[in-house]
Amino acid sequence: MIYYLNADGVSVRGCSYIYAPRGQAGEYAPLAANPYRGCGHKCAYCYVPRVTKQDRGEFNAGAVVRGNYLDELRRDAVKYQALGVTEQVMISFTSDPYHPGDTTTTRKALEILIDHGLGICTLTKGGTRGLRDIDLFRRDRDAFASTLTSLDTAFSRKWESGAADPDDRIAALKAFHGRGIFTWVSLEPTIDVEASLSIVDATHEFVDLYKVGRVNYLPITKTEDWESYTHRMVNRLQQLGKKHYIKKDLQPFLPEGYHNPLRIPQHH
Ligand code: SF4
Repeated sequence: MIYYLNADGVSVRGCSYIYAPRGQAGEYAPLAANPYRGCGHKCAYCYVPRVTKQDRGEFNAGAVVRGNYLDELRRDAVKYQALGVTEQVMISFTSDPYHPGDTTTTRKALEILIDHGLGICTLTKGGTRGLRDIDLFRRDRDAFASTLTSLDTAFSRKWESGAADPDDRIAALKAFHGRGIFTWVSLEPTIDVEASLSIVDATHEFVDLYKVGRVNYLPITKTEDWESYTHRMVNRLQQLGKKHYIKKDLQPFLPEGYHNPLRIPQHH
């Protein structure tokens, strides 16, 4: 069996249901899996319909499981296991693992990954919907992650009208942290820099790692002082002693030689 390494991870040739994401997605996880097409969270900034070539209305109508998904995932997982790959697989980039619809496939997918020796990570705006699967997560190799753009419910409902409210996402992070599971927060997109800085202040006691990015394709992309934001965010995270990864869009503003590891072990 053939496999190849790239800067972003290990992909087994011929596998597409478990794959090493590239580019900006590769900054999130060494491996990923996408059980669904569509997502009911309706984030106004969502870029996925462009990638999956779906009409936004169809995409926002809700998630559907990809055809024959679990069988295909298992087929790939067998190949990864045969090669001894044990990396974390993140679910997901093209939908949310805890979207508002039926997410039983998420649990089955996580079970398949675990059964084949792989680590798991879910990145979600579904908040406490994720607690259903908390029993699957292992302290020594798995992670639970949430995207937060604001602590303000009205702000979130404007930008992420179908997602769980920020308080609910924070409750989920606390619950996973309370179980000893590694937690991280995606501060991307940053739609309001003050909001993102406030999120760190409010969550650092139960969040292990922050991944910090900016926003693309919005007016703020061109008008915000991203250098100032990067410096303020880095100072805040350093003062709090929090692990962090500054994404490529903001890396030009880091001091030369700044320690900014792409892969931070996500376990306790
Ligand atoms: S949760 Fe993710 S996939 Fe779903 S609409 Fe929002 S940005 Fe898109």
